[in-house]
Amino acid sequence: MKKLSIIIPCYNEQDTIRPFLAETKLVEARMASELEFDYIFVNDGSKDSTLKVLRQVSQEIHNVHYISFSRNFGKEAGLLAGLEAADGDFITVMDADLQDPPELLIEMYDKIQEGYDVVGTRRADRKGEPVIRSFFSKMFYRIINAVSDTEMVDGARDFRLMTRQVVDSILELEEVNRFSKGLFSWVGYDVTYISFENRERVAGETSWNFWSLLNYSMDGFINFSEAPLNLSMWAGTLSFLVSILGIIFIIVRKLTFGDPVSGWASMVCIMLFIGGIQLLALGIIGKYIAKIFLETKKRPVYIIKEKSE
Ligand code: UDP
Ligand code: MG
Repeated sequence: MKKLSIIIPCYNEQDTIRPFLAETKLVEARMASELEFDYIFVNDGSKDSTLKVLRQVSQEIHNVHYISFSRNFGKEAGLLAGLEAADGDFITVMDADLQDPPELLIEMYDKIQEGYDVVGTRRADRKGEPVIRSFFSKMFYRIINAVSDTEMVDGARDFRLMTRQVVDSILELEEVNRFSKGLFSWVGYDVTYISFENRERVAGETSWNFWSLLNYSMDGFINFSEAPLNLSMWAGTLSFLVSILGIIFIIVRKLTFGDPVSGWASMVCIMLFIGGIQLLALGIIGKYIAKIFLETKKRPVYIIKEKSE
């Protein structure tokens, strides 16, 4: 029988793991004639009793396994560890908080049978989400799709069902700075999406705040586009052209009217403006160099402290 590996990254999810398993087990029973399930929980350095719960459930249920990191490495690291550990013919990634409805797996598997390589899910709406967060998410997708060659689908979740071949392709990408939304899309293949209504967490709380999301979206830009570099180049070119025009204007005025140059206030403004542009450009370049620095160090993306079995 074909095997489905389910990867669940967990950070402080002590209260959601059991409800998650309870619901997913129902779907497992419904699909038992077609697929054998295998659960891989990745404990991403949780500060609560997540590890304890994982040790218990892996004892109780034969197809539940876990990997536990030595500290918090972030969801991207958890995803990678799970993908590397998964040995199923099909692989899916799910949140532990039941925001990804397990019953969708049935419909997703049907689509895979139809011949798709990847079946993703997207939220049809952003109900229950703060308005500001929705606004910035929308902006992010609009801008990144305008400037990046890799398409990122608005509202697409990491919850997706993939064939072995697709996962092997993703694992071939060896970068240390992993922006999964981009990597999943970059590998290509035949992809289709299923929409579903946004759901609230069953328990616990989201580990994202405004700043972590802002940083995350910056990672998206730096990893998947050169637009910030182009932007600073064009800003530099523009201010250079404007300054040439200004110089010509001043020389002509001096020769025709003999006016001395006056107005130090405007001078200071211009100097600040140009200095600002230079710092901005340096900062942008610095961001890319920092990423290159991280890549060249070739540090492992995660460290495993403990594993089931
Ligand atoms: N997560 C993780 N490491 C982290 C942060 C989050 O493994 O550093 C997991 C978390 O336990 C959850 C999933 O990633 O299963 C999505 O996180 P969350 O539900 O907080 O994000 P949201 O659904 O609000 O976008
Ligand atoms: Mg969630």
